[in-house]
Amino acid sequence: MPFKQNVYEKAVYKEPAPIRDTEHPFQAMIDRFDIAAKILELDPGFYEYLVSPSRIHITSIPVVMDDGRIKMFEGYRVIHNEILGPSKGGIRFSPDVNVNEVKALAAWMTWKCAIVNVPFGGAKGGVVCDPSSMSPGELERLTRRYTANLLDVFGPDKDIPAPDMNTNAQIMAWIIDTYCMNTRNTNTAMVTGKPIILGGSLGRVEATGRGVMSVTLSAMAKLGMSPQDSTVAVQGFGNVGSIAAKLLSGRGCKIVAVSDVHGGYYNENGFDVEDLIEYASNNNRSLAGYPEAQEISNHELLTLDVDVLVPAAKEDQITSANAPDVKARIIAEGANGPTTPAADRILDEKGVLVVPDILANAGGVTVSYFEWVQDRQGYFWSIERVNKRLDRMMKTAFNNVFVASEEYGVPLRTASYVLAIDKVASALKLRGIYA
Ligand code: GLU
Repeated sequence: MPFKQNVYEKAVYKEPAPIRDTEHPFQAMIDRFDIAAKILELDPGFYEYLVSPSRIHITSIPVVMDDGRIKMFEGYRVIHNEILGPSKGGIRFSPDVNVNEVKALAAWMTWKCAIVNVPFGGAKGGVVCDPSSMSPGELERLTRRYTANLLDVFGPDKDIPAPDMNTNAQIMAWIIDTYCMNTRNTNTAMVTGKPIILGGSLGRVEATGRGVMSVTLSAMAKLGMSPQDSTVAVQGFGNVGSIAAKLLSGRGCKIVAVSDVHGGYYNENGFDVEDLIEYASNNNRSLAGYPEAQEISNHELLTLDVDVLVPAAKEDQITSANAPDVKARIIAEGANGPTTPAADRILDEKGVLVVPDILANAGGVTVSYFEWVQDRQGYFWSIERVNKRLDRMMKTAFNNVFVASEEYGVPLRTASYVLAIDKVASALKLRGIYA
């Protein structure tokens, strides 16, 4: 099979790809970019342009806490690239988010949008905070002040935020309200992932998980696997992991393992995923104590003897330390950056078919695009239309990447970067450098 060929000898004619588990997601992005740039023989000036973020905003956010104290938070918005359209990307709230991570996530948004053929550039935002220890009032004040500080950055034709880790439709509602109050203009297309009643799209909440399902089924079809005979392990039971598990189980797959921040859970007969979701929602969003499960470690989950592994938690989970023990035939990356460049190489040599993040989790931004289109038209689609178009776009993107992987004899990740960079570079060439 073509993706089994060793890209590092075949396609990279100068030096081999770096072999490292980097702690820096932006470096991990560049390591992949380098391989694709060499295949494309990218002009060195274009190379510099396309790896450089266009703008990095760092802002201090004062919040009056419930006890009356003023606390300062640090927030980021990185605009990586706007060549194909207004920049697009979520905002994450997390205690360990940092500017390096946000730079990587912003770049991944650029490539993601290019692969699924959505007319957006890439951006990402983050606020260093622990939302689990904040009251709704504190979170609202934090969100509003972050939005107000970045008022000139955001806009439906400029930069369009969305949910990401630990942010949700309610937070998007505060963003839109703050923006609209300040601009004295109700423009619902300035943010996506909003509540439906405020101009959100049906199917947006499920979109990333649905996209993961779609690419997993496409990958299975390529390997001649049937969903009914396949077992799946899902790392992470947030929005992406839980929906991907639910939809894959609906297609006949047996979900034998899931995990959340508290631990891993295994059931060799397969979980009733609806029941897991219900349990978590009644248990403070935790699966801890779920009765019909055997507890397993994170390492055990990632190295289980399953057909499909869906890492849907966070970055740097599959590394050179555990990649040699991975037994899955397919990895569908629901999270952004779950695999290190060192692990890429090991998995490729083992013949694991890795559907990379910038393809596998692009369903979210695809339906964000649908939401933006609907808001601008003031005409809203049925769930059937949203899902049908999403499925079609994910299938087309998967097939394009698969064909490129065969053509260049490279893994799907490299093929995804090749297609995305080629597209953005072609647009850059047409637009030229403004002087
Ligand atoms: N945060 C999601 C992602 O990483 C969605 C971004 C969006 O819809 O703009 O793809």
